Amino acid sequence: MASLNSGVPKGELKNKWTQYKDSIDLVNPANKRNIDVIVVGTGLAGGSASATLAELGYNVKTFCYQDSPRRAHSIAAQGGINASKNYQGDGDSTYRLFYDTVKGGDYRSREANVYRLAEVSTNIIDQCVAQGVPFARDYGGLLDNRSFGGVLVSRTFYAKGQTGQQLLLGAYSAMNRQIARGKIQMHNRHEMLDVVIVDGKARGIIARNLITGEIERHSAHAVVIASGGYGNVYFLSTNAMGSNATAAWKVHKKGAFFANPCYTQIHPTCIPRSGEYQSKLTLMSESLRNDGRIWVPKRMEDVEALRKGTLKATEIAEENRDYYLERRYPAFGNLVPRDVASRAAKERCDAGYGVNKTGEAVYLDFSSAITRYGKEQVLLQGEDANDPLLIKKMGQEIVKSKYGNLFQMYEKIVDENPYENPMMIYPAVHYTMGGVWVDYNLMTTVPGLYAIGEANFSDHGSNRLGASALMQGLADGYFVLPYTIGDYLSDDIRTGPISTDSPEFKESEENVKQLLTKLVENKGKHSVDYYHKKLGNIMWDKCGMSRNETGLNEAISEIKELRADFWENVMVPGGLNELNKELEKAGRVADFLELGELFAKDALTRNESCGGHFREEYATKEGEAKRDDKKFNFVSAWEYKGEPSEAKLHKEKLEFENIEVKERSYK
Ligand SMILES: Cc1cc2nc3c(=O)[nH]c(=O)nc-3n(C[C@H](O)[C@H](O)[C@H](O)COP(=O)(O)OP(=O)(O)OC[C@H]3O[C@@H](n4cnc5c(N)ncnc54)[C@H](O)[C@@H]3O)c2cc1C
Repeated sequence: MASLNSGVPKGELKNKWTQYKDSIDLVNPANKRNIDVIVVGTGLAGGSASATLAELGYNVKTFCYQDSPRRAHSIAAQGGINASKNYQGDGDSTYRLFYDTVKGGDYRSREANVYRLAEVSTNIIDQCVAQGVPFARDYGGLLDNRSFGGVLVSRTFYAKGQTGQQLLLGAYSAMNRQIARGKIQMHNRHEMLDVVIVDGKARGIIARNLITGEIERHSAHAVVIASGGYGNVYFLSTNAMGSNATAAWKVHKKGAFFANPCYTQIHPTCIPRSGEYQSKLTLMSESLRNDGRIWVPKRMEDVEALRKGTLKATEIAEENRDYYLERRYPAFGNLVPRDVASRAAKERCDAGYGVNKTGEAVYLDFSSAITRYGKEQVLLQGEDANDPLLIKKMGQEIVKSKYGNLFQMYEKIVDENPYENPMMIYPAVHYTMGGVWVDYNLMTTVPGLYAIGEANFSDHGSNRLGASALMQGLADGYFVLPYTIGDYLSDDIRTGPISTDSPEFKESEENVKQLLTKLVENKGKHSVDYYHKKLGNIMWDKCGMSRNETGLNEAISEIKELRADFWENVMVPGGLNELNKELEKAGRVADFLELGELFAKDALTRNESCGGHFREEYATKEGEAKRDDKKFNFVSAWEYKGEPSEAKLHKEKLEFENIEVKERSYK
């Protein structure tokens, strides 16, 4: 029997982190020089962790499969990063950021971790500004903020629609300093394919050099997994094409528990799918919902005319438009959390009101914002306030200054001008809240093995609020792990270098080689993508935005069959000892085929509807979670508005912290 102990320190929520830091074991600077740490991943989580651990004096070995750390998927993040600076003076505070995040996640996150996240959020902004990250500034030169879903304040710091890129360049510069000092050994184009456990502790990894195909052993006193999310289990997602589950899945197979695998975020504003041969979906940042209004026609005849091409969206009169989010959620309007917005879009499209040919699109319309900004500008600049063309032009310029690169991206992909016509959007897989289980120290159930950033499960419950993934990745890497890892490593100051000659390394390496050999020697008849697409279809149809018992049972058996077929019939061209992209993909899809099954099993065993897990049996017809005053765990907190019940929910959740687990749910 394994024990899941979160290790949340005692004391008042708001004092836990401070008190804990005061009492945690430390490693002195001279001893840090004798300790090696492996970090798998160079996104915002891994990049910031590597730089900080090296700055502290540890010897860091960092791995990524891209040709440079700065190509990690984090670079794609568009909209922004949250922090409770309260620069806008609109009532923000650490507690409010904590509360919004916990409520946004339907009370399924660990409160102590989230409170700490909210606390260190302000440090992140200071750190990044010091690194030179060019956050947007207002007219007076102060850092600007915008608003994201599920909150009533403006706390999102941003750099146009390229926030991830700018933050990653900051982390990358910090890493580079350490690479130059020799404190980080950077292994680009290396893929971790197993974790090595010696005497119950994580002591290294097996990695494949993706250029030469060589299988390498790397040892360390601790291993940190910062490998990102697994949204690509759906084949189509907004994630980078390379994002995968392999590192997280391999550590799970070596004993690290996996938590909430089925909690997936389906983002409401993505460019709809255009055809069968598409390999990627594109996000339109949530920041657009600050100014874009979401609607579908009220009348079915308008929907039909739109699809036939005899009517344009701009020709539909205001009174015939259904701004369904503003109608259903007047307090938050278009800025409801993502899960709520996605389900509402699906509900309208399922009811037949989808505005494109496939019926899977709703409008995101900027015309009101363009007019509003334009009117303000003509006044400010003393121009003719009765000139509609001038108002439109000036309004468009403001919208362009805020979201120009996103509008350009939309136009390139869809070939329509979003300044003139509303964008068409539809929900798509975007983020995985589930991941490797970690305790308060961010350590997995394997001693010495840590998981940070999107790879772990702890902070976002069943739905992540916008702009909080970057916050979590950087909090974990810059401000949490560098403290908590010392608590573990303080026992290792006399251990000395870890040998890679042990039987455990040998066995791990052999297993990796065997698996890769099997893949290239299989010589089957179907490509890796053939299987990935099939898996994606099962996942989307049966484990997607809403799920039911029958579908989930079908998914489990279909995935099993598909996995058996994969091992029988997959065709991987090329050899082992060379650059082989198909082989890389094959290994990742093999892992997705196992993770997919666990995912469906997890969804099946939950009799609840919440956030990224929406069971039709526990939902209303309008796509809201059913309220049940007695069973707080079974309702979506978002639909639940009464304070006393929310407080009770907190209490129940806290009592849920330390649990015993009989056996792992998947082998
Ligand atoms: C289009 C898009 C826009 C987004 N916009 C925002 C936003 O505005 N705000 C926000 O807060 N969040 C946003 N997100 C979410 C956010 O970008 C991610 O959650 C976050 O960047 C993940 O960071 P990470 O460091 O955990 O992982 P990643 O950035 O995914 O990095 C993973 C790293 O692990 C490495 N790796 C993985 N597996 C292996 C392996 N087996 N061996 C070796 N290396 C490996 C990779 O090479 C990479 O370096 C967005 C997501 C998408 C898809």
